[in-house]
Amino acid sequence: MNQWWLECARCGRTDIPTDKPLTACPHCGHDWLEPRFPYEKLKPILLEEVPKRRCTMWRYREFLPITHDENIISMGEGGTPLIRLRNLGLMFGAPNLYVKDERQGPTGSFKDRQASLAISLMKEHNIREAVVASTGNVAISYSAYAAQAGIKLWAFLTSSVPADKMREVALYGTEVVKVTATYDRTKEVAAQFAEHRGLHLDRGIRSVAARESMKTLAYEIAEDFGWRAPDWYVQAVSGGMGPVGVLKGFQELYRMGLIDKIPKIAAVQATGCAPMVKAWQENSSVPINVESPQTLITTVATGKPGIAYTILYHAAKRYGGTFVAVTDEEAFRTMHIMAKLDGFSMEPAAAMAFAGTMQLLREGVIKPDETVVICLSGHTFPVEKHLLEEGWAHDLDLSHEEETSHTVPNREEGLLASLENLGGDVRRIVIVEDDAPARVLLRRILQARGEYEIYEAENGRRGLEVIKQVRPDLILLDLMMPEMDGYQVLDHLKADETLENIPVIVITAAHLTESERKRLSGYVRSLLRKGEFIDTELMDDIESALK
Ligand SMILES: *Cc1c(COP(=O)(O)O)cnc(C)c1O
Ligand SMILES: [Zn+2]
Repeated sequence: MNQWWLECARCGRTDIPTDKPLTACPHCGHDWLEPRFPYEKLKPILLEEVPKRRCTMWRYREFLPITHDENIISMGEGGTPLIRLRNLGLMFGAPNLYVKDERQGPTGSFKDRQASLAISLMKEHNIREAVVASTGNVAISYSAYAAQAGIKLWAFLTSSVPADKMREVALYGTEVVKVTATYDRTKEVAAQFAEHRGLHLDRGIRSVAARESMKTLAYEIAEDFGWRAPDWYVQAVSGGMGPVGVLKGFQELYRMGLIDKIPKIAAVQATGCAPMVKAWQENSSVPINVESPQTLITTVATGKPGIAYTILYHAAKRYGGTFVAVTDEEAFRTMHIMAKLDGFSMEPAAAMAFAGTMQLLREGVIKPDETVVICLSGHTFPVEKHLLEEGWAHDLDLSHEEETSHTVPNREEGLLASLENLGGDVRRIVIVEDDAPARVLLRRILQARGEYEIYEAENGRRGLEVIKQVRPDLILLDLMMPEMDGYQVLDHLKADETLENIPVIVITAAHLTESERKRLSGYVRSLLRKGEFIDTELMDDIESALK
């Protein structure tokens, strides 16, 4: 069991429950809660235990806000290499430029850290279905981890997200909702959908998972330098979650006396979407929002970064640090330079950080002898177009909103009606299975293939209760179970004329004898043996049973 607690950033109270997803302080309603840890007690672990552990972000698990280790969903995220940029360094006469290579996460971006902690927390809070808004990489990464955790995901993406990325999200079995609107509007729509359906909504930077996961970047960087802080951390920013998390990480290490300064943070934005840079230039501590972002680099198209900017502004005033903008053209050119010069191929958003670094070196803001860590935040892997069938995304076109919002008073109602229709008609399926991992697998196969209302029971007796209660369209039934086995369940179904016509697919671990097969024939649609069927066979059986 991990020891940690939450502290409200406004009222400072710490008696706040950690066993459920909170959206605000229960005492004062403030929506920014900071996880805290027994730092003094943990410091020796960092020095003595951590070096012996595997290189993933979970090597710092005592500093991550999860209570039970068994809820951790890890795919090898974090623990990425810190690599010196030989050629670029030579070019600028700056020998201490380093790349933190976040392409080496399971889905190729630093969002894998966030996904690992966020999905683990969902597991800890028993969440089975969730909604996320994304400019691409969060949706990809969450989808991968949600698959493993058996969590159904709805990803709301702006239509400007490259099709390759959208396809990758769909490949993982996530419901893709393509919204023709800005990213900030897409976030609002996702929130309404979640509220309407009573689903868990990922709160982005306002969630504990986002910031706490990103702080492991700071821990890794400091540990790699032998518990020393670099002079600069440079990153391309959208909502600013990365640098806010990294800042917290360095602050914790400073507090424990492991490093002797907090690095300067340089946040790089696209010229066509630079609410932080504009505010910084005008010496404002609140962002100057951009209503309609003008950049081809969708990954960083957050026009309203909110409090993240205010936190970074105060940090920049206190420790140094800056905000710079680069054009799309500079970012694309830098992609070529970095690949050709030092062998790093990256997505345009990541290239912005390198373009920003070069600009700051040229302007003399970064001094040639300073140690600079540049976050190579992501790499995309295009998904083979032919892998997916037509209709893998739901379309939600809100581009008419702008013209009609003055004339149509019930714009939100229209939106709710559109959201209502997403996914079509929903079939009910009951899974009766005593083995918990098998239930997760069956649930996952179903979740990844469409929208089903899924009920689960861990034995025959309970299964029968659930079946009577929900009157499902289909039953997936195990045979060997405690209390009441599958044969008895079938006998009960047969004896009840309101239940006898519900199709049943038997999924069993055992080899059946001839007489057992006879007993089943006529009552079940099909029989699958565990460990011998693949998901497409099951789905074919399910789809034909539901016809
Ligand atoms: C999300 C993302 C960013 C911006 O991250 P924030 O810290 O949330 O602003 C930059 N680069 C890539 C590749 C990303 O996926
Ligand atoms: Zn409070």
